[in-house]
Amino acid sequence: MRLPSCWSCQYRFKWKELLFKFRKIECPSCREHQHVTRRKQRQTQVLTLFLTMLTIVGIHFIYSYSAIGALLYGVAILLITLVFSPFLSEFTEKEEQLFK
Ligand SMILES: [Zn+2]
Repeated sequence: MRLPSCWSCQYRFKWKELLFKFRKIECPSCREHQHVTRRKQRQTQVLTLFLTMLTIVGIHFIYSYSAIGALLYGVAILLITLVFSPFLSEFTEKEEQLFK
């Protein structure tokens, strides 16, 4: 897995620079705005759907044994998603609408 780079100057983003940043990302090197490619937006949508289902099914299943366990499971999935989300980005010059 590789972190994305700037479409303009090829600056390689650092993990913490992309954490919690889903919109309006600016390159720290050349100050150009970064837009997530449509391809990556689609992949993120599919992944989000899959993770949501996994979370709901998992929590429902674990909850019958332990409410705390179900809570921890939910938090764990959320954390894993956050940690890996910067790797799922790919930037382009123009803003690409998901539906067009
Ligand atoms: Zn740049």
